[in-house]
Amino acid sequence: MQLYPWQEDLWVKWFGKGQNITGQSFLLYTGKGQGKRHFAHYLSQSWLCESPLEKGKACGLCQQCHLFTVGTHPDFLLIEGDGAGEGKNITIDMIRNMLKWSILTPQLANKRIVVIYLAEEMNVYAANSILKMLEEPVNHTVFILLSEHPYKLLPTIRSRCQRIDLGKASMQQSIDWLHTTLPQAHYIKQTLIVSYGAPLWAKKLLDQAGFETLQQCFTQLLAVYLYQQEPLQVAEQWQKIAFINEWLYYWVMECIYAKETGHISPVLKVLAKQELLDYFLSQLNTQQMFVLLDKVIQWKTQENVLNRLLMIESFLLQWQLRQ
Ligand SMILES: [Zn+2]
Repeated sequence: MQLYPWQEDLWVKWFGKGQNITGQSFLLYTGKGQGKRHFAHYLSQSWLCESPLEKGKACGLCQQCHLFTVGTHPDFLLIEGDGAGEGKNITIDMIRNMLKWSILTPQLANKRIVVIYLAEEMNVYAANSILKMLEEPVNHTVFILLSEHPYKLLPTIRSRCQRIDLGKASMQQSIDWLHTTLPQAHYIKQTLIVSYGAPLWAKKLLDQAGFETLQQCFTQLLAVYLYQQEPLQVAEQWQKIAFINEWLYYWVMECIYAKETGHISPVLKVLAKQELLDYFLSQLNTQQMFVLLDKVIQWKTQENVLNRLLMIESFLLQWQLRQ
């Protein structure tokens, strides 16, 4: 396992100088698509490793490293919501089971490590339950809480953790990395712009469909609003696009923002031609847009294969009817 290039400096600063762990609870935070979970796994392996290399990195060869790599290390536990970061709650039962596990003596390593992804998805009971453990930790257990929105956590949880801002990849770091990882990919810079500069998100998009598909979907969205395309026809095409519900959420937000402020964001600018955007925005009525936004948020959290086409159809019909 390797760190992403944009994480190297941060690693050296926080963990690479042979520092002993001074705390037992860490809160690592950064935006979506920046590699939080990867960083936490990397960190966990290095802490479980029997003979870490220079800069504190895992050796990759010992028994601990081997078990960690194949995903069966008995002293490592990952807790995540059902929606893998898409809004589902981490429940009190999950946290209770984790707490029972965390107080047991480590089986193979000298510590147990718990990673929680994403900590803000703990519901209020789960959050209160873990708080007690953070206040009176068991010596051998380390908690790594990951977050995209640390301000959504209880202040008491934040204050009991060592907080580390994982930062964000620069545009150039992201472009370089995507060029190396996907040498055949086109429109890397544009893809990064629509992915809000998040390299892993951009990679997912390039892996799945590519920038041109996304651009086409956005143009169709505007065309449906302007009565130039049939909602049901567009829905038929969109149902094959795995990530469309995620994008719609951002696009509706962007459209509202552009209409209300008169400022067109770089995301919209790379998705459609200026004249089309101007005309669309001149026609856009934002009054009902928040209802649509709610719909997309619900859809984001409830999606299943059976009702996918229905949901897209209903969204597009409502979008065209402007109500
Ligand atoms: Zn090792």
